Amino acid sequence: MDFKEHIRVIPDFPQPGIRFKDITTLLKNGPVYREAIDAMKAAVSDKEIDLIAGPEARGFVIGAPLAYSLGVGFVPIRKSGKLPGETIEADYSLEYGKDKLAVHKDSILKGQKVLIADDLLATGGTLVTTIKLIKQLGGEIVGAAFLIELGYLNGRDKLEGVDVFSLVKY
Ligand code: IMP
Repeated sequence: MDFKEHIRVIPDFPQPGIRFKDITTLLKNGPVYREAIDAMKAAVSDKEIDLIAGPEARGFVIGAPLAYSLGVGFVPIRKSGKLPGETIEADYSLEYGKDKLAVHKDSILKGQKVLIADDLLATGGTLVTTIKLIKQLGGEIVGAAFLIELGYLNGRDKLEGVDVFSLVKY
């Protein structure tokens, strides 16, 4: 399957110079969406996983079906102020902007094996912050799986020691 055929590239969104990879065109195609999740599942099948952690919002769209399919739990990593319980927070910077990510303090137990899932690896800023939060709770990162990797932004270089998988590379 050539997943790239189903990903739309929109120039100058959300800022001039950014070539935005729009996955809504892939998501609306049921068989292609399913095949993408199945391929990501196959890629991590050698790992022992207790939980999938997915950053808001597109990390939910990839991480939740992956978790369901693997029969493991899902932990949402959210923007600051959205989670109702006690949280820990960390700053992060994006390819285009800055924000804060948060996770419920009791969402990951010490020693639990966590796979991070998201739609896209760009600069790696989101992933680095997500890793920081998971480690702060005592979780063990077993890897990170992405639908898309923007290789030219070298996000992978920030993630020494983390096993990174991506289905589609640009
Ligand atoms: P990073 O933190 O720079 O690696 O950026 C990754 C995050 O930014 C992901 O959660 C994506 O949802 C979002 N993102 C950055 N660039 C794009 C894009 O071209 N298409 C879709 N999402 C993007």
